Amino acid sequence: MFFIEKEIQMAAYLFASILFILSLGGLSSQESAKRGVLFGIVGMIVAIIATVLGEGVSGQVYIIIAIAIASVIGLMLARKVEMTAMPQLVAILHSFVGLAAVLVGFGSYLDPHAHTLTGAAHTIHLVEVFVGIFIGAITFTGSIIAWGKLDGKVPSKPWSFKGLQTMNLVLLIVCTILGVLYCKADGTSGMLYLGIMTAIASFIGVVLVMAIGGGDMPVVVSMLNSYSGWAAAAAGFMLGNDLLIVTGALVGSSGAILSMHMCHAMNRSFFSVIFASGAGNGSGGEKKAIEGEVTSLNHEEVATLLKEAKSVVIVPGYGMAVAKAQYPIFDMVQTLRKAGKNVRFAIHPVAGRLPGHMNVLLAEANVPYDIVLEMDEINDDMPNTDVVMVIGANDVVNPSAQDDPASSIYGMPVIEAWKAEKVIIMKRSMSAGYSGEDNPLFYKPNSEMLYGDAKDSVEKIMGFLKA
Ligand code: NDP
Repeated sequence: MFFIEKEIQMAAYLFASILFILSLGGLSSQESAKRGVLFGIVGMIVAIIATVLGEGVSGQVYIIIAIAIASVIGLMLARKVEMTAMPQLVAILHSFVGLAAVLVGFGSYLDPHAHTLTGAAHTIHLVEVFVGIFIGAITFTGSIIAWGKLDGKVPSKPWSFKGLQTMNLVLLIVCTILGVLYCKADGTSGMLYLGIMTAIASFIGVVLVMAIGGGDMPVVVSMLNSYSGWAAAAAGFMLGNDLLIVTGALVGSSGAILSMHMCHAMNRSFFSVIFASGAGNGSGGEKKAIEGEVTSLNHEEVATLLKEAKSVVIVPGYGMAVAKAQYPIFDMVQTLRKAGKNVRFAIHPVAGRLPGHMNVLLAEANVPYDIVLEMDEINDDMPNTDVVMVIGANDVVNPSAQDDPASSIYGMPVIEAWKAEKVIIMKRSMSAGYSGEDNPLFYKPNSEMLYGDAKDSVEKIMGFLKA
């Protein structure tokens, strides 16, 4: 088989690292995101070729066959997956990275060559293996639970109990003690400690994510993204692969930055989420009784309200993604703008099920960026808005986040739709949002429900607008 020299491999790794950095830079804005993805793809192809052809790599044919099979599976999954199921796919892919780190860890520990190391080098190798497996196991099980929560297979409501934090702390101390015993063990006799630690870390991963409520899931998704990066970096140390260390660190640190942004957007403390100190800020006491009556209107009445309005704000949410309503919504926006109305979108940072979910969907429908405003940019304008159309959104416009300390989303900044003259809420039923919290907005005197699938409703409204 053909091998490349070490120097060439290093040069290829450096080139791939630069492409990965450019990729991350590109992903920071919608205009350059496609270019960013392209840099990432090219970087990964260079990285794989340089690794597989590296000196001393055996079984290249098997590796190439495995890569080919995995690529076909990946391609099929990516083609088949619905945009609404993307978060679940991302979560399950994170779990694969965690599992890979665990397997690499056990493989490295059992590798007879590793035990020829002596002194500090040996201890460093043992610690790399231990930490890599620990992070990998947490990432693996935590991501599976996150996948279950996002896919509706595990309830999105927080599952927690008194003493959870203490238990996590005790388990962490036990793992540290196991780590010391394992480092002192001879040959491969530390396997037992490694095995017990893996079981404990897997358990921590489960309870850590189970304790998070639906409303706080964005932080968990980005946090698991970060963990998967650190798990990959740990695998890089174990395998002595510099590029894997760099790539893992890039993913780990960018995921950590995204988690912090998400925490900021949701007014959550980063540490309370990563140590699963309970779900969100809710006190867990008696919830405020919802007062008022729910009223509804029909499509023609909505069209009349829109014709009379001067300023309209659209608040999209996860339901817009489910209904794929972004295209008819943009048609409606163009019609209203042509009629001289000031129409804008208000985007909550955690609307949908992925960071930037709404921005991606609106960009897909060619909505100009200048009418897509962030929550902070538009909230002050709400009292001067004639009509707010809440399309498939729920938690992100829930006033309980501001005035019910017992709510699990209490403290999360929300779009203050209720301050507008009129609020039209377009969804199929009175059901709660992803957090499981009821929404008092539906009962406000200036709110009206328009029941039905968002796409269908918008198309019907368009019919009346054009009439
Ligand atoms: P929500 O999940 O709170 O509400 C979406 C609403 O859409 C539902 O109440 C549902 O009501 C409605 N809906 C569903 N399908 C349709 C349809 N076809 N037509 C019309 N309406 C529909 O979404 P939000 O965007 O308001 O909030 C996002 C939530 O998800 C937050 O709690 C956030 O923390 C969480 N989250 C966000 C992530 C992110 O990174 N953005 C990641 C993970 C979780 P009905 O069934 O009555 O139609």
